[in-house]
Amino acid sequence: MIDERKAWTQSMQQPQQFASDNYAGVCPEAWAAMNEANSGHEPAYGGDQWTARASEAFRTLFETPCEVFFAFNGTAANSLALASLCQSYHSVICSESAHVETDECGAPEFFSNGSKLLVAPSSNGKLTPEAIRSIALKRTDIHYPKPRAVTITQPTETGELYTLDEIHAISAECRSLGLKLHMDGARFANACASLGCSPAEMTWKAGVDVLCFGGTKNGMAVGEAVIFFDTKLAEDFDYRCKQAGQLASKMRFLAAPWVAMLESGAWLRHASHANACAQDFAHRVESLPGIKLMFKAQANAVFLTLPSEIAEGLRARGWLFYTFIGGGARFMFAWDSSPERVTALVEDLRALTS
Ligand SMILES: *Cc1c(COP(=O)(O)O)cnc(C)c1O
Repeated sequence: MIDERKAWTQSMQQPQQFASDNYAGVCPEAWAAMNEANSGHEPAYGGDQWTARASEAFRTLFETPCEVFFAFNGTAANSLALASLCQSYHSVICSESAHVETDECGAPEFFSNGSKLLVAPSSNGKLTPEAIRSIALKRTDIHYPKPRAVTITQPTETGELYTLDEIHAISAECRSLGLKLHMDGARFANACASLGCSPAEMTWKAGVDVLCFGGTKNGMAVGEAVIFFDTKLAEDFDYRCKQAGQLASKMRFLAAPWVAMLESGAWLRHASHANACAQDFAHRVESLPGIKLMFKAQANAVFLTLPSEIAEGLRARGWLFYTFIGGGARFMFAWDSSPERVTALVEDLRALTS
């Protein structure tokens, strides 16, 4: 019976794709932690030992007594974090390609009861101190939603990185304008791995007030951590999570994978692997005829401009990928990306372009 089931699932197994880092399954460390947490009874709603341990692991990782909360996904984490910085009449400055603007279905505005996103044009998805200043000071009258926060995505939606100097410059601008700084770190681990800096250096030491640290794209089944470095901002955040349907009653299963990921170093190892696959892929295809890298491949994403017949050819050969940003083809690499599948994709691109 069990063998039959196994044969069935194997026959259903799809080949590995690079359409999204969310296509990957759960990494062994996170899976084992879920299993380990699945013994006996534990207090519900975060009163369990795993939640305490995971929060402590974040405080150790970030070398500071931050406040930590767990949400099911990134949309909720970002939206609730931003809502906690704003009153309904406030506004949040972001890049025009920010996930909060393009991919969260208005959730930041919804959960903040109307705080408006003010969008800065940007060719590479990055905000600059100048762009922030010009939006923040564009209007100061009562008829305009009052700027209150800035959100940056690290790495950006197009796979580029803010340097530490750039984050420092942005936070200095925020401080001088009286704005709070939020970081969407759906792929925060990839940024740490690529820049080689400590999580503390990239966040509170650089002036970030609140971080959403993504677990899902890092190899967990589900779960993002919201980390307040300015702990005063965390006041009543637990109520906000509960009201938004984000308080897990069996919290230990959101928390235990974080314990394993952080304590074993898997969070950084998996991100480094994904980054290395992206860089290897970018390096091997960038000089193929008709193909161009749209952005620097600094984390685990590679965006290519492809002639449409090449894109169709790839699809005909069974490859899945998105073309939602600027018409380019996006390839994302994950903790489990296999060198053989990367090579298979490179070979198909080579065959189609020759
Ligand atoms: C994936 C992602 C999120 C979170 O998305 P959910 O689907 O809500 O988990 C947030 N920000 C960025 C930049 C992302 O890529």
